[in-house]
Amino acid sequence: GLCIVSCNNNKEVALSGNENKNNIEFKVEQLLSKMTLEEKIGQMNQYNGFWDVTGPTPSSGDAAKKYEHLRKGYVGSMLNVKGVQEVRAVQKIAVEETRLGIPLIIGFDVIHGYKTLSPIPLAEAASWDLEAIKKSAEIAALEASAAGINWTFAPMVDISRDARWGRVMEGAGEDPYLGSKIAKARVMGFQGDDLSKPNTIAACAKHWAGYGFAESGRDYNTVDVGTSTLNNIIFPPFKATVDAGVKTFMNSFNELNGIPATGNAYLQREVLKDKWDFKGFVVSDWGSMVEMINHGYVENKKQAAEVSANAGSDMDMESYAYVSELANLVNEGKVSEALIDDAVTRILRVKFELGLFDDPYKYCDENREKEVTGSKEIHEAVLDVAKKSIVLLKNENNMLPLKKKGQKIAVIGTLANDKTSPLGSWRIGADDNTAVSVLEGMQKYPDNQIHYAKGADLVTGEASFPFELKINTTDKSDFPKAINTAKNADVVVMVLGEHGFQSGEARSRTNIGLPGVQQELLEAVYAVNKNIVLVLNNGRPLAISWADANIPAIVEAWQLGTQNGNAIAQVLYGDYNPSGKLPMTFPRNVGQLPMYYNYKNTGRPAANEPNSVFWSHFIDEANTPLYPFGHGLSYTSFTYSNLSISKISNNQVEVSVHLKNTGKFKGKEVAQLYIRDLFASVTRPVKELKGFDLVELEPNESKTVKFTLTKKELGFYNNEGDFVIETGTFTVFVGGSSYTSLEENFVL
Ligand code: BGC
Repeated sequence: GLCIVSCNNNKEVALSGNENKNNIEFKVEQLLSKMTLEEKIGQMNQYNGFWDVTGPTPSSGDAAKKYEHLRKGYVGSMLNVKGVQEVRAVQKIAVEETRLGIPLIIGFDVIHGYKTLSPIPLAEAASWDLEAIKKSAEIAALEASAAGINWTFAPMVDISRDARWGRVMEGAGEDPYLGSKIAKARVMGFQGDDLSKPNTIAACAKHWAGYGFAESGRDYNTVDVGTSTLNNIIFPPFKATVDAGVKTFMNSFNELNGIPATGNAYLQREVLKDKWDFKGFVVSDWGSMVEMINHGYVENKKQAAEVSANAGSDMDMESYAYVSELANLVNEGKVSEALIDDAVTRILRVKFELGLFDDPYKYCDENREKEVTGSKEIHEAVLDVAKKSIVLLKNENNMLPLKKKGQKIAVIGTLANDKTSPLGSWRIGADDNTAVSVLEGMQKYPDNQIHYAKGADLVTGEASFPFELKINTTDKSDFPKAINTAKNADVVVMVLGEHGFQSGEARSRTNIGLPGVQQELLEAVYAVNKNIVLVLNNGRPLAISWADANIPAIVEAWQLGTQNGNAIAQVLYGDYNPSGKLPMTFPRNVGQLPMYYNYKNTGRPAANEPNSVFWSHFIDEANTPLYPFGHGLSYTSFTYSNLSISKISNNQVEVSVHLKNTGKFKGKEVAQLYIRDLFASVTRPVKELKGFDLVELEPNESKTVKFTLTKKELGFYNNEGDFVIETGTFTVFVGGSSYTSLEENFVL
C-alpha cells in the first residue's frame, strides 16, 4: 500500500525547500483524500507499547485489542516501543498489513538522553551554555533515533517557581528568558536542520500549558493564573519552540483557570494554532482526555473525545477516546470532519517531514543501533555538559579544589556509591547501575587515600521506575562507622541529596530539606570534622540553611547522568573550573515558596517601613533566598566595572560592562543583564533577565561585554494580552547573579 504516496526520491532531491514543502502539502492532501473516516481517526490514536511485540501475539486483553487496531490501521503512533527490533515489528504491521500502509510515528520520553544519559534538564539549564545544551539534545536524538525512535516528548518547557513540584527537574527553571533560549536550543538539537535525516527526531514542547504552576507544587493540581503571568511567564518558552520550528506540542493534565488544558480551545486553537500559526500537531498527555471526567468538565468518554477534538487536541495518548468515540461524534455532527482532516493533515505532515513515507524503516537499522548506542562520542558529549552543569554554591577559605596528593579523604553518603540515582528520573531507555558513581570518579585520582562509609541508606529497599518509591529509611546504625571514618580524614566529601526517584513526575514534596536521616548524618559528621565538602545530588532546589551556615564548601551537582562521578571528581580536583549558575532560586525554608527572583514589589517593602512591623514579611524567616537565581561561584574571581548605557534610540539600548578575571585560575563567567521597568501600566517585576553572555577569561584578562536591548526585551504583555512598550525610566543591572550587580538608569 505504501506506493500510493511515496514518490521518486531522485525527483525530490532536485526540489528547493519551498517546492519540497508544497510537495509535502500536496502529498498529504492526496493521501487524505483516500482515507476513510476510521483510517483518519486511526492516525489520531496513539498506543503505549509496553508489551513485547516480537513475542507471541496476545490473544486477549488490552494488548490484543491494540494489535487488532494496529492491523486495521487504527493506530497512528506508538510510544514506549524499545529498540529497533520492536519498532521494526510494529512498523511492519502498519506498513504491510494495513490498507494504506501509513507508517507509525514512534514516540518516547527522550528527556535527557536515551541509553546514555546527560544531566537532568534542570542541571543542564544551570550551564547557561546554549551550545552544550543543544549538543546534548543532538546526542540524545542520535542515540534514540538509532534505537528506532523518531519523536521525543521533549523539551518540557514549563516554567516553575515552586521547588515542591517534582517535575522541576525536567525543565529549565523559573525564568522565561533563560527558559526560552534553552527551549530553542533543545528543539534545534533534537530536530537538527533537516528532520528527514535518520539521526534527527521530532521534538515536542510540553505541557501546554501552566502545568508548572500547580497549586502548592502538588503534581497535577489546579492552576489558576492571570493573563499577565500566562503571557509574560508561562507562554514565552512555548512561543520560542514554535519560532524554532518545533513539530509537536503536548497538552497537559492540569486545568487552567477552570478549563482542563486538553479541552482548552483558547490554548490549543486560539493561541497556538491561530495566533502563533503552529503547523504541527498536539498530542494529549497520557489519558488526559478521560481525566476531564474527574476534573468535572465532561461526563463521559464520548464527551471527552468531543471536547478534546473540538478544542484542538490532535492525537489521543492512551485515553482510547478517539478510537472508540470519534466516528460516532462525526456522524452525529458533533465534531466536523473538517476538524478531523485538519488534525490528520498535521500528523501526516510531520510523518512526511520525517521521511517516513520514503523509508518507514529508516530508523530501524540494527547495525547503526549497535554502533551508535553508548559510543565514545556520546559519552564525551554527556561528560562535557555534565561538568558545565555543576554549580559551586559556597567555597569558604578556598576549600576547593582539593589537593591531588597526600590527602586522606573520607567519602560519606550512600549516594556517593550509587550508580543509579545520578541517572535521575526519566530514564526509561537506560539500565540501572550505569552511572559512574562519585566514588568511582574520585578513585581515578590515585595519589590520595579514599575511605568510604555510607553512613545511612536513603530509602528502604530498591525503588524502581516509575511507580515504586520506597520510604526514607530511619536506620542510623551505620552512623558510627561514618563518624569514625570522618574523624581521621583530612577532608570529608559528603554526597547527600535525593534518590533518583525522589524528584520527577508524581514526586512532590512538602519538605525540601535533605530527605531521610541525611541531615542528622551531616551534623554528626560535622561534630567530629568540620572540613566538609558537601556534594549535592538532587533534582530540585533544596532548603539547606544549616549546611550553608556551617559547611565550608557546597557543590550543587544535581543528577548528572551517566558520567556523574567523572564530572564531579574533575570539578572537585580543579581539572574543571565550575561555571554553572542556578536556574532556580534556592529558598531558606519551604514556607517561602513559591519563590523567584522576578517577583513584584509590594506597597510595603522593608525600606518603606523601617520602624514598623507592618511590612510584607514573615516573622520567622527572611524574605531573601538562600541562593538566588543566577548564583554560582568559580575557583577564580570576576570583577565587574564601568557599566555604561548608550544609543538610546528607536527603542534600542546598548549596554556594556567591563569584566575582569581577578583570580588565579582560567575560568568562565555568565555575565547577566537584568532590567526593571520602574513605572508601568501593569506593575513590573523588580528584575527581569534580558541578556547573558558566557565569557571565558585567563587570569588578569578582561573583556568588554556588550548587550543590546530592543523592543522585545523592553516591552511586556499587558492584561489584554497585547505586547506593549512603555516609555519612562528603566534600571539596568549587570552582574554575576540576580542579587549582586552594578546598576544604572536610563530613560526610554
Ligand atoms: C507525562 C508526559 C509524558 C507521558 C508519556 C505523562 O505521564 O506527563 O510528560 O511524555 O507521560 O510518558
